[in-house]
Amino acid sequence: MRDGIRIDGCTRTCGLIGNPVEHTMSPAIHNTLAQALGQNLVYVPFRVLPGEVREAVEGARALNLLGCNVTVPYKSEVIPYLKELDPLAERIGAVNTLVRTEGGFKGYNTDMPGLLRAFEADGVKPGGEKVLILGAGGVARAVAVMLSGLASEIIILNRTIERAQKIADEINAYTEGQPVRAMALADWRQLPWGERYLAVQATNVGMYPRVQEAVMEDPDFYRRIHTGYDLIFNPARTRFMQMTEAAGGRAYNGLKMLLYQGIIAYELWTGAAVTGELEEKAYDAMKHAMGIGD
Ligand code: NAP
Repeated sequence: MRDGIRIDGCTRTCGLIGNPVEHTMSPAIHNTLAQALGQNLVYVPFRVLPGEVREAVEGARALNLLGCNVTVPYKSEVIPYLKELDPLAERIGAVNTLVRTEGGFKGYNTDMPGLLRAFEADGVKPGGEKVLILGAGGVARAVAVMLSGLASEIIILNRTIERAQKIADEINAYTEGQPVRAMALADWRQLPWGERYLAVQATNVGMYPRVQEAVMEDPDFYRRIHTGYDLIFNPARTRFMQMTEAAGGRAYNGLKMLLYQGIIAYELWTGAAVTGELEEKAYDAMKHAMGIGD
């Protein structure tokens, strides 16, 4: 026994595959859950070098790992080496969780269910909402895919409109109607006057260390949104959030999404149901690891 973690011949291992992995908060989430639930499981980060993803997945299987998370830059690259793919992960085209099955790993995306659970915890209801997604990178795409079945309207605003248009076209090809539109960020004034939106901030503008920046600097934009949900978690209070609040809206950060993607992965690996007090414990451990107070 060391620092409360038991390691013996029966200890199961889960890990993180990515590069870099040095700043991950996932060990704090998973090791806290394992201890609180009295499960003989440890979670460790594994830095995987470019070109060695296949070996990492095969090695994880050969070493009898119970499961893995996958992070940047391997969320799509890992897919060909999996035995099976969950339908949501397939639609999103990105996997962040591997679950051991007979003969290989099954890939899931818990980032998006994690975001939905974070919305719920924060009292944000995307059902029937008019949604703006700021950004058109991997995460924005996943958010658009997930919300396309829930929101009444989705507009993807991106600096490079072609990337936003590509996502809109892809989603509209398999969704009835035309629920997703693309718009250049610079054209935001073309948004219908009088509408107020739930805005999901999915660019990396404003991330530490460039904390003085926001993807949108015009204060008038923020009068068009009632809720600003920034997926950035460092800093915990971004300039985007500050500007949303200054215009009278509600603002949230990406910490709970980070928490719940981990909790859902843990539930998939172990079958445990993580609720209430346990969620709080994991959240506190994660914030402590990040040096964030309450
Ligand atoms: P990505 O693929 O690199 O996409 C970045 C996006 O930001 C692109 O749309 C890009 O626009 C836009 N952008 C970058 N610099 C910009 C600028 N100066 N002005 C305007 N737009 C700019 O990134 P990603 O992997 O999707 O990640 C996006 C965010 O999600 C990150 O902030 C990350 O922290 C966050 N995230 C949060 C969690 C969580 O658990 N909370 C998990 C994963 C990711 P162009 O297309 O024009 O280049």
